[in-house]
Amino acid sequence: MGTGLARVPYYGTVPRRQKRLPLPAPPLRQWFRRRLLAWYRQHGRDLPWRETRDPYRILVSEVMLQQTQVDRVLPKYEEWLVRYPTFHALAEAPEAEVVETWYPLGYNIRPRRLHAIAREAVAKYNGMLPDDEPTLRSFKGIGEYTAGAVMSFAFGKRAAILDTNVARVLFRVFIGRGNPGSHATERHLWAISRTVLPHRHVFDFNQALMDFGATVCSARKPQCLICPMKAKCRAYPFNPEHES
Ligand code: SF4
Repeated sequence: MGTGLARVPYYGTVPRRQKRLPLPAPPLRQWFRRRLLAWYRQHGRDLPWRETRDPYRILVSEVMLQQTQVDRVLPKYEEWLVRYPTFHALAEAPEAEVVETWYPLGYNIRPRRLHAIAREAVAKYNGMLPDDEPTLRSFKGIGEYTAGAVMSFAFGKRAAILDTNVARVLFRVFIGRGNPGSHATERHLWAISRTVLPHRHVFDFNQALMDFGATVCSARKPQCLICPMKAKCRAYPFNPEHES
């Protein structure tokens, strides 16, 4: 081949000497988007943070969901928003009370960070969140994932996300074997998440990725037999020994 390009089955083409890991080819991206959005329209869960575009409410839900299951988050999310409906209300509350209100979700660094973010949002941005990624990430407690979630869910921007559920889905469908937790794989998965992200329906697509990982492509018992991705999934049929 005189072009200097190596054909990579399934993924498309990458330059021979390029170390960058290959990304899904455009037809595969399209296929994946269509399948995922169709699945979401039929099976997506009805959750209160999907009914809002308020950056504060989105942030609260994202922080609560970081280490806690949806069914435990739901009642606390409602209670929290009654008590602290805005960044201003949260910023004015004493930290000890905020941590107490958080109980029993645990990992108490989370309410402290949320409280600190609220105080900074009030002090610098009039109780709002900025809508650009570098400024969002300048807040202590807003990392790459949370920034992507706020950007796409609150501000409707084309921003990728990668939480545990999303990483699992993308790893299994597009990579299939290896160590899903390595740093190199994580960077690769971020690149895949950005690549498969559509230009429209970003909110639904990112919500669908998370839902799909939580309900179909779950950690221990993925439902491969009824999965809409199985025709092209590199991990199908799932074997836990391939993830090591
Ligand atoms: S086929 Fe199995 S491993 Fe692949 S995405 Fe579906 S549930 Fe996950």
